Amino acid sequence: MAEVILKNLKKVYPNAESKKTKKGEPQKKGNLQITDEGVVAVQDFNLHIADKEFIVLVGPSGCGKSTTLRMIAGLEDISGGELTIGGKLMNDVEPKDRDIAMVFQSYALYPHMTVYENMAFSLKLKKLPKDEIDKKVREAAEILDITQYLDRKPKALSGGQRQRVAIGRAIVRDPAVFLMDEPLSNLDAKLRNQMRAEIIKLRERIDTTFIYVTHDQTEAMTLGDRIVIMKDGFIQQIGTPQEVFDHPANLFVAGFIGMPQMNFFDAKLTRQNGRYAVTVGGVTVELSDEKQQRLAEHNVAEQDVTLGVRPDHLMLCADGIKGTVDVSEMMGSSVHLHVAAEGKDVIVIVPTNGAAAHFPMGSEVNMIFGGNVAHVFDKETGKNLE
Ligand code: ADP
Repeated sequence: MAEVILKNLKKVYPNAESKKTKKGEPQKKGNLQITDEGVVAVQDFNLHIADKEFIVLVGPSGCGKSTTLRMIAGLEDISGGELTIGGKLMNDVEPKDRDIAMVFQSYALYPHMTVYENMAFSLKLKKLPKDEIDKKVREAAEILDITQYLDRKPKALSGGQRQRVAIGRAIVRDPAVFLMDEPLSNLDAKLRNQMRAEIIKLRERIDTTFIYVTHDQTEAMTLGDRIVIMKDGFIQQIGTPQEVFDHPANLFVAGFIGMPQMNFFDAKLTRQNGRYAVTVGGVTVELSDEKQQRLAEHNVAEQDVTLGVRPDHLMLCADGIKGTVDVSEMMGSSVHLHVAAEGKDVIVIVPTNGAAAHFPMGSEVNMIFGGNVAHVFDKETGKNLE
């Protein structure tokens, strides 16, 4: 069993600048909090990772993903809170005794060793019998399709092959928890897609707990059983890919998850005869029953709101929110229209249904959306109101 529990985990990096901070008056440097002790890179981090779960930590650069992973690995001291792996408190346990294996973005292979020696290295240190090492290395090489490269040195391999070796080196250790820090970031787009599929297959074969860090929302959505979205050292939302896509907790998550990005409008939330509706650009749309229920439960008052609608949920129609086409991008099965509307640059995905739709620059369009796909956010706090 390798359940991983992070309870109120915190990381503070001491730095000289932070000493200037007045006691009791935390300041902000960039978007991170600075206290007397230093820069607070991660705080209030609470997460219960089930045995064999695939968890992805995702967020923009600097949000604290790697720091969190490195605290789990034991490569970074934990400043506060508790980390347990398989029920054991790990805060002060050496990395080698945590039953984890980590794969880095940089591969971190030993250049003077062959692929075989790289993969066998940790097992030799553990003083495993030679034939057992051989069996484990060959099994992992088979899984990763690198058997033919076992005698090569890393410099004679492509980036994708090197990353497979790095993963192989982790597999042979048969860890209870697999930690991966942006393992695909150094690969080109095509190879990254391939390796993403490989990681999904790998996960099927080696049934263990995965904690995976990436800044790429597509990787997060496709790989994670659940994803943890972070910003400025804080968790913003934890949920399945579908949950965070359908019910983003706030504007940040709404904008971060989904490609192309969700459109945002200034709108009004109204309530008449107990029914909620949103009004934007002279168009009023009643919200779905499910959203009505949630808004009513929270007794949300009529107010100015930020309305979010995903590009594939906006539809062209005869009469709706008026806009002017700025750019029309032909994507094959659809056209991405960039439309100036309500003072925003709005993206609408229009399916071509085989026939290339034609929207010259300057075309006037009308857009509408359904009451089930409208997301309503608090204008001040950015919190999802429904
Ligand atoms: P991410 O992985 O999300 O890009 P990191 O966890 O690497 O973010 O970093 C989080 C924050 O902590 C960043 O602001 C970064 O500059 C800071 N940080 C990371 N490592 C150190 C360090 N060794 N000393 C001081 N600050 C650091």
